[in-house]
Amino acid sequence: MNLLKQWEISHRQQIKDELAAAGITLATENIERIIEETSFRVRSEKHPEKCPYYSKGTPCHPGVEDLNCFLCACPNYDSEKLEGGCRAKSRKGKFHYHSNLPEGRVWDCSDCEINHTPQEIRRYLLKYFTT
Ligand code: SF4
Repeated sequence: MNLLKQWEISHRQQIKDELAAAGITLATENIERIIEETSFRVRSEKHPEKCPYYSKGTPCHPGVEDLNCFLCACPNYDSEKLEGGCRAKSRKGKFHYHSNLPEGRVWDCSDCEINHTPQEIRRYLLKYFTT
């Protein structure tokens, strides 16, 4: 399993653990609490050690208002490839090139808001809980 895939799995478990510790079960009636608990704003305060961007105070997606970290591991991200990629073919993603990277480049989502706004998380969770 490549590093991207490992990180994706560990991030999802981390979010589940944090919600459980806050007494929030994954259920339709808790959607607003889930969104609040997983916001960049709240996680920066409660779990500053969980992401380097929290201590910087600068979000990884600077253009997104009230950035949400629930789907930090975006379901559209192609973690099967070591260089990553976007299965949704978002035009806002791009490759970042660096000679130190295993493939010489990695997919960069920093300009994309898909799956990172409260509205998108609400839509995602409603679909998740009702289908
Ligand atoms: S470019 Fe956007 S939709 Fe595609 S994987 Fe990244 S955050 Fe998700």
